[in-house]
Amino acid sequence: MFFTSLMTTRQIVLASRPVGVPTKENFRFESIELPEIKEGEVMLQGLYYSVDPYMRGRMNDAKSYAPPFQLNEPLNGGVIARVIETRSDSLKVGDYVLGSLPWRETLITNEKDVHEIDTTVAPASYYLGVLGMTGLTAYIGLMHIGKPKSGETVVVSAAAGAVGIVVGQIAKIQGCRVIGIAGSAKKTKMLKEGFGFDQAINYKTTSDLEKAIIEACPDGVDIYFDNVGGTISDAVISQMNFHSRIPLCGQIALYNDTENASGPRLQPVLLTKSILMQGFIVSNYQNLFPDAIQHLSQWVKEGRLKFKETIMHGFDKLPDALLGLFSGENEGKMIVSVDQNSLTNKLGFEKDAEAHYDTVSTVINKLRKQGFTIDFNLKGNSLSHPGGILKVSDFTIVDVYRYEGNSDPADEAVVYAIESYNGIKGILVSGYGISADDASEEILKKLNIRK
Ligand code: NDP
Repeated sequence: MFFTSLMTTRQIVLASRPVGVPTKENFRFESIELPEIKEGEVMLQGLYYSVDPYMRGRMNDAKSYAPPFQLNEPLNGGVIARVIETRSDSLKVGDYVLGSLPWRETLITNEKDVHEIDTTVAPASYYLGVLGMTGLTAYIGLMHIGKPKSGETVVVSAAAGAVGIVVGQIAKIQGCRVIGIAGSAKKTKMLKEGFGFDQAINYKTTSDLEKAIIEACPDGVDIYFDNVGGTISDAVISQMNFHSRIPLCGQIALYNDTENASGPRLQPVLLTKSILMQGFIVSNYQNLFPDAIQHLSQWVKEGRLKFKETIMHGFDKLPDALLGLFSGENEGKMIVSVDQNSLTNKLGFEKDAEAHYDTVSTVINKLRKQGFTIDFNLKGNSLSHPGGILKVSDFTIVDVYRYEGNSDPADEAVVYAIESYNGIKGILVSGYGISADDASEEILKKLNIRK
């Protein structure tokens, strides 16, 4: 079955090309009519939208490895979506797919432009991050260009971002000493305490970066995974060892420049220290994807590779999320979620007496299927855990479930799925009737379960 009347949807188009740092004025929201779907096409509901630094380059009218976005046309990028109508033989309603798709809430596309993802292996959003483009970038850049050896020193910039956080952990798995460079005290703490980095440098508060690198890397630098360029990279490259390697992944420090940046000439140091510096674009390494995905999934499954997402909720947040990459608002992968199912999951229970418990246990089951470990009790404004007391502010909300009750507001409950910087996951329950009575005590006790 397919729609016979036309549907409308919202899209976000490039309204103007930015000069320097982009602003919200560069984007415009529009409503458009969708045509009927044709043979071989599917209609999709967008769930998770990826925002990535390379999109900034596509906002310019300049030739590059990815074509520029066109003025007054929708931006596009990695999107995870659910099939809601189909005239495809290979995709059915309810399937989750990934594709490079326009920024539209509802989309029509050819079945060949998307591929199905397996949401029983990992949460759908992971296919935009650790099991998607950024995870592949980290793996291929580090393993195939950096070629780490046990005992070597690896430095990675934008270390708390989607690529960097994975690079650092893979380098640890390879037996390296890992130093991350990031832009806040919260991020450097997270890297050391939550992701096993040996040292982390806050480039925004360090007055002498070169000195900080000498102190953090007493044996010099063997691999510098360059995500940022600019003065950060100048400082690291000055401390590279003989025969060291530089996978040149990104130059985000320069993406908003309006003039060509100049800096130290690198050739003398590359020459005298026989350094290999190699730029790479992940999409040119498709032949390596199956092996990379196999390693990444295996490490995720074994708990050796943790991941972090910053999720903004609502289609309207897409411009903010993209701009946020340039002010460092993200920890791990920046994603916009418009998953209506999880945002307003209206659980319709008949019996009020069991409503709270059912809400919580349904959510727990759902979270456990996504690999969640519920491992703490809620106490006041903090969470007690074998590792100590964690403050609510240490947590990021990754999902919200709402039970609206039948008629009595006392039945309302909101269940937050949360994750701490060091990977501890759990749920918080709030609502009129939930915190004060015996039943809620029972529920909170039951939260203390492990997978
Ligand atoms: P991130 O998740 O790392 O987000 C960007 C981060 O960059 C921000 O959180 C911010 O962190 C940091 N940053 C922003 N502006 C500056 C600046 N002026 N100087 C230093 N750091 C800055 O993004 P990704 O992990 O997706 O991408 C990381 C890099 O890798 C980017 O340069 C990107 O273009 C590149 N890339 C390259 C690919 C390839 O195929 N070669 C594929 C994917 C990504 P902080 O708070 O630490 O400043």
